[in-house]
Amino acid sequence: MKVVYSSDFLKHDFEGNPERAARVLAIKHALDAKGFGDYIEAKPASEKELLKVHTKHLLAELKERSERGLGSIDNPFSKETYEIAKLSAGSAIIAAKHASEFAFSLARPPGHHAGKDFFEGFCYLNNIAIAVASLLKNYSRILVIDFDLHLGQGTQDIFTGSEAVYYFSMHQDAGTIYPWRDFPIRDNTTKLVPLQPGTADAEYLKIFEKGLKEISQSFEPELIACSAGFDIFYADRFYVGSQLNITNPETFKKIGSIISNAKLPCFAVLEGGYHLETLGLLARKFLEGLVYEGSDSLSSAQ
Ligand SMILES: [Zn+2]
Repeated sequence: MKVVYSSDFLKHDFEGNPERAARVLAIKHALDAKGFGDYIEAKPASEKELLKVHTKHLLAELKERSERGLGSIDNPFSKETYEIAKLSAGSAIIAAKHASEFAFSLARPPGHHAGKDFFEGFCYLNNIAIAVASLLKNYSRILVIDFDLHLGQGTQDIFTGSEAVYYFSMHQDAGTIYPWRDFPIRDNTTKLVPLQPGTADAEYLKIFEKGLKEISQSFEPELIACSAGFDIFYADRFYVGSQLNITNPETFKKIGSIISNAKLPCFAVLEGGYHLETLGLLARKFLEGLVYEGSDSLSSAQ
């Protein structure tokens, strides 16, 4: 398992913001404690790679806001923000290149709420979409699985209408949590599964496994790209209100093993997950499931 990382991810950090530098450190410590992962240094994405997904307008706006430090609570900016967002996107591209060995982009800021021409929800550039776009010359059918608590409306926006990329999202009903509105499905390569608050581990896994099986049969993906968000865990709540009720860390291992059972090249990128006391454990469980369970057909997986 390759892990793409850079200590520069720590430079984008804002006091009091849940999406903080300590998140990647928590995961890194949990992986290092088990000697898990073969590290690769992240490199920034090029403008050409970003423009496969985003508009010139968005890139110019991010650059300008970064220079001027013009941000909000959901999307704070410092002088480093745009550079670190490009580094996070580039990290995902490197993970995508190593999908046949399984790879994880241990990067931030996250990306799945950033669309072609908009940025929201702690996200600036859509890392997974940029990485998937970088693979489309070599693959004709890529499945994006998003198990973050929140709907990845940015990823949906980017790939709506693309027959080469299927977007499968399991998330809490977007009428009950951010992004607080519905995004209708407009093509045959999108499956959104809105879950009601209170949905627990066994039911979650059953729905996930069934959904993945159906898509595997109908779409026949050649590669899986995974938006891995760990905020579905019950302890991870900075919103007031009820959420999903995923209480067992082993559920993340099972998510990994269900994906692994598809026996396809796979890479994952970090999205949400803000509870620092459990984030490292949950991410490690997920990666262990991905690598050690049901992956015997991939000769280089270790
Ligand atoms: Zn989230």
